[in-house]
Amino acid sequence: MKNYDKLYINGAWVAPVGTGSIDVINAATEEVMGRIPEGVEADAEAAIAAARAAFEGWAATPAPKRAEYLSAIQAGIKAQADEFARTITGEVGVPFKLAQRVMVGNPLNTFGMYAKLAAEFEFESSVGNSLIVREPVGVVAAITPWNFPLHQIALKVAAALAAGCTVVLKPSEVAPLNAFMLAQIIHDAGVPKGVFNLVSGYGPVVGEAMAKSPEVDMISFTGSTRAGKRVTELGAQTVKRVALELGGKSAALILDDADLPLAVKATVAYCYLNSGQTCAATTRMLVPESRYEEAATIAVEVASGYSVGDPMGDARLGPLISEVQRERVRAYINQGVAEGAQLLTGGADAPEGQAKGYFVKPTVFGKVQSSMTIAKEEIFGPVLSIITYKDEADAVRIANDSVYGLAGTIWSKDEERAKRVARRIRAGQIDINGGPFNPAAPFGGFKQSGRGREGGLYGLEEFLEYKSLQLRPPKAA
Ligand code: NDP
Repeated sequence: MKNYDKLYINGAWVAPVGTGSIDVINAATEEVMGRIPEGVEADAEAAIAAARAAFEGWAATPAPKRAEYLSAIQAGIKAQADEFARTITGEVGVPFKLAQRVMVGNPLNTFGMYAKLAAEFEFESSVGNSLIVREPVGVVAAITPWNFPLHQIALKVAAALAAGCTVVLKPSEVAPLNAFMLAQIIHDAGVPKGVFNLVSGYGPVVGEAMAKSPEVDMISFTGSTRAGKRVTELGAQTVKRVALELGGKSAALILDDADLPLAVKATVAYCYLNSGQTCAATTRMLVPESRYEEAATIAVEVASGYSVGDPMGDARLGPLISEVQRERVRAYINQGVAEGAQLLTGGADAPEGQAKGYFVKPTVFGKVQSSMTIAKEEIFGPVLSIITYKDEADAVRIANDSVYGLAGTIWSKDEERAKRVARRIRAGQIDINGGPFNPAAPFGGFKQSGRGREGGLYGLEEFLEYKSLQLRPPKAA
């Protein structure tokens, strides 16, 4: 049990104004594994005031010094890497090995990367008679979800601190324990008081208080498009900068000359990563009409190889994060059947032998039409839809037939062709023939998948303003 009854505000663990608490549930056992405070608006306001008071000093701290703090935080996470992985496996349900590699490995890289970028970034440059100064935006409200909790926190907190911003973090109440561990590490790293603050609580209460506050300069939000629209509306009242990483319905476009078994196997894997609770998951697999039967057979075979079970054991698929999420995914599966898609494997029933835990069967639908709900909405579960296309133009049209535009993949033996097609897809990140994730590349969405970019230099620049100092040209001698 990890019990936290205090919030981290102004460099100290303080008793919250809110008197409620929130249970954190282990996704595989359904047992309570921790408890956190249910913060209220007054708690958010106290944290924002602390961040505001700390801003000037932190912004004036030389960037190489800020980099040292980030390196110390990285070392602190590293020292507790396995405990973080165990905690996130409990909260999220992700298999432990994947938690070590991705859920903790990525944040470790992120803090290291922003330490380096802070130390090396050119905060000043010249244009004509102007000195262009990059300055931190100010107080940042970071609102994060539960699917890759520490990764999403790190992308915001490390980049914002590197830029010289101060931060108030509100993690998802469903997977918050890792954020409390991080706050202690930030404290132990000696980061000055008020620079980083943690307030837990519900989105519509704490999150909205942050989005509304005139003392917050920027909201950096990751989560559902619904909540992203809400914080944007609230932030508009004080013309805040709002960065959004939202949902997706990404297409894996398998061209007619692709290595089909390789492409299908990789698409299923990318769709089922973290039990499908991944914003960039390739949930729509687009295959040529002539190769549908072959692709469907391979997909079913691959999906059937995904063992479901204890995420601390050898299972490839853990449970979904919560009962709410499991019921949402089951409802989508039932809707797919009702709308006439062919259920090739899986389904809405609980997997055999899983009396406890929020498990869902790895599911594949065939003969899916773009107009069906399962092809349009973000399911956030292990559910793949196979859609056929007539020719390349039709494939591009279907891939783009979405309100989202976060990511995608293209598969072709001809890399030049794949690149040509990739340029026609309206999405922020396209992997070609399994090109691996690159943390230094910008990540973010077109259309309703978001606004702005995280990762690398692009993620740092999100938290910077431009200021132009107009200098008088030197008088001619
Ligand atoms: P939310 O968007 O509700 O949660 C993300 C974060 O936003 C959480 O910290 C949440 O707080 C907070 N939040 C919620 N409502 C508000 C609000 N009105 N104002 C400010 N902050 C708010 O996601 P859900 O957990 O409800 O997931 C629902 C669906 O969203 C998923 O099924 C999936 O489709 C999508 N999703 C997409 C993600 C992505 O990475 N693209 C990540 C997570 C979800 P709290 O949790 O405390 O309520």
